[in-house]
Amino acid sequence: MVDVSSITAMTSALNGAMDIKKGLLSLKSQAELQALSIELNAKLIEAQQAIFEVNDERQKLIDQIKTLQSKIDEMRDWEKESSRYTLISPWPGTPVTVYHLKKSESNSEKPHWLCPNCFQNKKKSILNTNQKKGERVHLVCSVCKATINTGYNGIGGPQYAEDIK
Ligand SMILES: [Zn+2]
Repeated sequence: MVDVSSITAMTSALNGAMDIKKGLLSLKSQAELQALSIELNAKLIEAQQAIFEVNDERQKLIDQIKTLQSKIDEMRDWEKESSRYTLISPWPGTPVTVYHLKKSESNSEKPHWLCPNCFQNKKKSILNTNQKKGERVHLVCSVCKATINTGYNGIGGPQYAEDIK
């Protein structure tokens, strides 16, 4: 939002200075000249102050535009990156779903699982398997610390989304 008050203040101060300049032409005494000169200085200081304020606002707007532009870039990057993945439940009989890389989008990257929690927060975090003795295979996220019980004793390695039946 542009604050026009400082622009208005600047315009009015400059108009005041112009009025004083016109007054100079009809001067009658040294005292009048001095008074007018003081008034003129005051108006110029006012105008200068208003110019500083306008510059401040201008800089704030430039900063806001930069921030917004970088947010737009981030969103576009994530949109592109996230479209390489799809949410799949690869282990029948379990509600477990994780993000799988699409083979068509892999660019020769190996298949891997991504944490669904982190994905919602627009972050990519690869899940690693962890199986303690006597327990089912768990998928562990090193970023959000999520631990997902697959319910299986063995799940094999990650596959591309297209290869899951
Ligand atoms: Zn996570």
